[in-house]
Amino acid sequence: MTHRVYNFNPGPATLPLPVLEEIRDEFTDFQGSGMSIIESSHRSPEYSAVHEETISLFREMLGLGDDYYVMFLGGGASTQFFTIPMNLLTGGKKADYIRTGTWAKKAIKEAELFGDIHVAGNSENEEGKFNYCPNQSQLDLRDDAVYLHLTSNNTIAGTQYHTFPVAASGSFLVADMSSDMLWRKFDPAPFGIIYAGAQKNLGPSGVTVVIMRKDVLEMCVDGLPTMVSYKTHAAKDSLFNTPPVFPIYTVGKVLKWIKGLGGLEVMEKINREKAGLVYGAIESSGGFYSSPIQLDSRSVMNVVWRCPTPELEQKFIAEAKAEGLSGLKGHRSVGGCRASIYNAHPMEGVKALADFMGAFASRNG
Ligand code: PMP
Repeated sequence: MTHRVYNFNPGPATLPLPVLEEIRDEFTDFQGSGMSIIESSHRSPEYSAVHEETISLFREMLGLGDDYYVMFLGGGASTQFFTIPMNLLTGGKKADYIRTGTWAKKAIKEAELFGDIHVAGNSENEEGKFNYCPNQSQLDLRDDAVYLHLTSNNTIAGTQYHTFPVAASGSFLVADMSSDMLWRKFDPAPFGIIYAGAQKNLGPSGVTVVIMRKDVLEMCVDGLPTMVSYKTHAAKDSLFNTPPVFPIYTVGKVLKWIKGLGGLEVMEKINREKAGLVYGAIESSGGFYSSPIQLDSRSVMNVVWRCPTPELEQKFIAEAKAEGLSGLKGHRSVGGCRASIYNAHPMEGVKALADFMGAFASRNG
């Protein structure tokens, strides 16, 4: 009998149990090949089918036309922080960035190594906290920027863009969607690049999905080291060198699981319902819990809240853990509590959390 807790970790994060079970069942003998998928050549027919299927599932789910490449790269989303400006800004070209938290700050720091970077919007308050995503009227965009970079969901702050800003004419959006990729359907057209580390909404760590429009690939500079040039990976369908085979195979299974549920429309409905339960527990606590996040920017993926005192927060996290609700501690830079409830987090786990929140507030309020 396996012991499974409700896992609220921000990433690596919980994966769909049916996916884990399927991997377990075929782990030592993949589809009668007599070997594991992680022992197979990345050029074998078995792996090629997995690779192609995972790419086509992304295309299908996001409604991507032939004008987009889907790439599977290594190095985490953090590697994209420098690879994007290296390819597109080398020589001091301009890009605008929206500064909405830790990950956006890291992306800006790397971009400054290559280009002329302007912070077009910044949601940091006097206490150093980020509690909203700047909207269009709060942005100061440059007409001659190559792109506008945003973080669609701020994993640590607990904020999310529900309506994407529009880039200045002549430029395009670049989005770090590491913590909310595929939580719902959206129009990819304004995005020149979308990237996401897999370990939250898509699968295990080890692969980063990079979706790039073909005209953007053509803007990339030549003469970069082979492995950091998008042109290398796009031309070889992410098989220039050995790709992260096991994470890609797992991501493929997660995408099939989402499709089996009914696709992204159903996924969005479930995600909104789950987030509604946690925000509901905050709102109905008579002020015991509080959300530090502006209403229009509250994340459906990472719900953050405060208890009346840091001591009560520690007690909350410890007692929740003892009841099988794991990983609820807020990031060390912001404190408080955080429930990461990505696509794969089961509804029952969120219901158990909401019940626990209610009971804890009555006991301690
Ligand atoms: N962007 C966001 C929004 C993230 O949440 C994270 C990881 N928590 C990263 C980037 C960095 O990803 P990686 O660890 O894959 O480099």
